[in-house]
Amino acid sequence: MNDRFVVVGAGTMGLGIAYVAAGAGHSVELVEVDAARGATALTRLADLWERAVQRGKLTADEAAANRQRVTLRPSLADVAPAPEVIVEAVPERLDLKRTVLRDAATLSPALLASNTSSIAIGELAAGLDAPERFLGLHFFNPVWAMALLEIVVGPATAEETTAAAVALAGRLGKDPVVVRDLPGFATSRLGVTLGLEAIRMVADQVASPADIDKAMVLGYRHPIGPLELTDLVGLDVRLDIARTLQAAYGDRFAPPELLVEMVAAGRLGKKSGHGFYHWEDGVKR
Ligand code: NAD
Repeated sequence: MNDRFVVVGAGTMGLGIAYVAAGAGHSVELVEVDAARGATALTRLADLWERAVQRGKLTADEAAANRQRVTLRPSLADVAPAPEVIVEAVPERLDLKRTVLRDAATLSPALLASNTSSIAIGELAAGLDAPERFLGLHFFNPVWAMALLEIVVGPATAEETTAAAVALAGRLGKDPVVVRDLPGFATSRLGVTLGLEAIRMVADQVASPADIDKAMVLGYRHPIGPLELTDLVGLDVRLDIARTLQAAYGDRFAPPELLVEMVAAGRLGKKSGHGFYHWEDGVKR
């Protein structure tokens, strides 16, 4: 087995995955169709390593070595066959992911993975020649700071593939949970439940968003309240996931009217500057 690690999509998640893979010593090929986004990702990676040096986490030589391990590729056609791992992190669209995964599978990686946060691994596996080598590797944002890796075992995933993914998680410095391929996996199903109920509580005027969040932070030792987390994830993203889970599990995941109204009004959370809180330059006011 070689140490070539391919990441498809150099957006928020792809660059984070590239960062940890290069930091773990892998030679990383970052595939991005949009040249401008690819260039931005490389600049952002260089900034992250520079900051790690300033904070004393890495030496300048280590940071330079990590940077040199990452190569940008305009397409999967530019990647040599038989890498150790290919992780796709392209936008959450079934048709797009299926196309990318089929192209990736022609390179015969030892492990093929999707970073999907909501699409069933079984659905993504349709049309793959070797679905036994395919599973979900659900990283969390920001990838370099979040310890969890949710490993999603599809209906055709082989045991050896799951074992390889658990071993890979260890090498990347991540702590894995292994979950079955059911909608929402473990994290979204529980996290969205809490977020939706908190939004219903705002609508019921139980307390202010800040006090609902404070109750969970101080009362239950959550590191962040469910409404602030909803602002960080994006209200539109949470609404999409709620609808997916509603279709799968019924009306206990029906999105609250307030969430639907806020998304329609463009109040998407941190990224739009306004959600349950006001955000200025990425800082909560
Ligand atoms: P993003 O939009 O920031 O990045 C996606 C990138 O993929 C873009 O740069 C786009 O140009 C590129 N791309 C599109 N088609 C491509 C192709 N054919 N080949 C190569 N690159 C292509 O998206 P993101 O937020 O990084 O999300 C990626 C995946 O990760 C999604 O499945 C999402 O559900 C999942 N995810 C996101 C988060 C999060 O917090 N953002 C967390 C966990 C999982």
